[in-house]
Amino acid sequence: MGVIQIHFSTASARKKPQAGDLRWLKGKKIWQIRQQVRHGNAWVVSNGRPVWEWVQRGSESDRAWQSTAQGSDENDMAIRAYFEAGCLCIIAGTLPILPKERNAKAFQRYMAGCTCSRHPEFERETDRA
Ligand SMILES: [Zn+2]
Repeated sequence: MGVIQIHFSTASARKKPQAGDLRWLKGKKIWQIRQQVRHGNAWVVSNGRPVWEWVQRGSESDRAWQSTAQGSDENDMAIRAYFEAGCLCIIAGTLPILPKERNAKAFQRYMAGCTCSRHPEFERETDRA
């Protein structure tokens, strides 16, 4: 019989940092997105590894946001920003932020998937009475 070796390591279980990682800052009530540090036109690297930074989602520094903004419908972009700034479904993780998604698609996905009071067409029970 052969011997099967199984190695357990906590290091391998840890997710490698990558561009597009997101985190919600409770205190500041903002999303931050991870991206590689850039200096002018160069990617910043240390010991052969990329150097990362956290920037505010949807800000001038968020390169993913800036790239999806190009050629995008202003309304789609505004609604997307609105959802990402406080939709409880997104904060709870049931509705993911996909940083590379086009704004028109994100707009549709959030409108269809959001079930919280952040939805522009959300009606409170009392409003219906
Ligand atoms: Zn929601």
